[in-house]
Amino acid sequence: MTDNKDINAEGQFSDGPPLGKSTPVSGERGSVTPEAREATSVGAKNSPQEIILAEPRGFCAGVDRAIEIVERALGKFGAPIYVRHEIVHNTYVVNELKDKGAIFIEDLDDVPAGATLVFSAHGVSKATEREAEARGFRIFDATCPLVTKVHVEVAKLNKEGYEFIMIGHKGHPEVEGTMGQLDSGIHLVEDVADVARIQPAQTEKLAVVTQTTLSVDDAAEISAAVKARFPNVRSPKQQDICYATQNRQDAVKIMSPQVDILIVVGSPTSSNSNRLRELAVKLGTEAYMVDDATELKPEWFEGKSRVGLTAGASAPEILVKQVIDRIKALGAVSVRKMAGIEETLKFPLPKGLKLHGSALDAIGSDLHAES
Ligand code: SF4
Repeated sequence: MTDNKDINAEGQFSDGPPLGKSTPVSGERGSVTPEAREATSVGAKNSPQEIILAEPRGFCAGVDRAIEIVERALGKFGAPIYVRHEIVHNTYVVNELKDKGAIFIEDLDDVPAGATLVFSAHGVSKATEREAEARGFRIFDATCPLVTKVHVEVAKLNKEGYEFIMIGHKGHPEVEGTMGQLDSGIHLVEDVADVARIQPAQTEKLAVVTQTTLSVDDAAEISAAVKARFPNVRSPKQQDICYATQNRQDAVKIMSPQVDILIVVGSPTSSNSNRLRELAVKLGTEAYMVDDATELKPEWFEGKSRVGLTAGASAPEILVKQVIDRIKALGAVSVRKMAGIEETLKFPLPKGLKLHGSALDAIGSDLHAES
C-alpha cells in the first residue's frame, strides 16, 4: 500500500490523511446529503479545489517492457526499427518512439528485407508470426507475457480437443492475435446476446478465454451467460483479465463516489482506458477521457470541487503531470494520492536486448518516469 500524499506548491508530495474505502473523504455516494455535497463545493465556487490521484494508475509491467524493447532495439541496432501495430495504444508513446526512429506498420509487406521487427504488446496471430519468420526479419516479441499466457493455454487445450469461446472486442489486435492462434474452433462473443448466437461444433469440450483488458464486471456477466448455456464449459483457473486492468478498475470503484468528476488519461484506442471512464459513469460520476491536457475543457470543472484523476495502463506519467498542471491552472490548490495497491511486477526482457548504459543513454526516455 502507498501512503497518501499531498503535493505542495513545488510539486512535491507531502503527507496527507489516508484516503480509501475505509477512510472516505466525503463518504460513499448515497450516504452524503445534498447539503454536505453543497458545503464541499462552497469554497470551490466555479473552480476545482482538489485533485485526487488514483493508485495504481498508468503504466503496467507489460507496457513498460514493450516500450523498453523498442528503445533497446533502437539503441542496439539503430533506426529504423519496425513495429507491427502501435506498440501500445497511446498517441504520445507512439509519437515519441517515431521521433527516435521507430516505424509503425500494419502490413509486413511494408518491412524491408533484413529489417528488425517488433511485435506489439497486444500479440500477433500464428500466421503473422510464421510470415515474419519466413521473411527472415530479426524479430523481438513485445507481446505482454500475460497475453502470451492466454495463447499458450489456447494451444494446450486445442491439442486436447477443446473449442473456445473468446470474450472480447471484435477488431482489437489482442483478440485477433489470440483468435489467430487457431485456424478454427474459436468463437468470439462481445456481449450476452452473442452467447445465444454462437454455434460450436460440440459442447463437451468448450473453454472460455478473455481479452485481458475488459471490464471485470461485464466479463463476469458474459461468463455467467456462457456457463448458463454451456454448463460444462471450462473457465480459466484465474481470470484472463490482467492484474493491471483489475487494479485500475478497483481504484476507480473506490474513488468514483468520492469525487465530483473523474478524468482518465488515455487514447481512444486504449481498451482499458475506455473501460475506466465507462466504469465511473456507471457508478454515477461524470467522467471524461483525454489523450492529453490540451483536451481538458474548463466548463467540465465548473462547480466541481474534487477532481479524480487516473490513467490507463498505456498512458505515461508525464501526461498525468501535464493534466495536473492544467487543472491547477483552472484553480485546483492541492493534489493528493489515494491509498492503493503498489504494483511491483516486472517482466524480463527478451534475450539479445541487453545493453550497456551508454547505448541506452543515447536513446534517452521520459516515458518511464516514476509516478
Ligand atoms: S494491460 Fe495487462 S495484458 Fe495489457 S500489457 Fe498491461 S499487464 Fe499486459
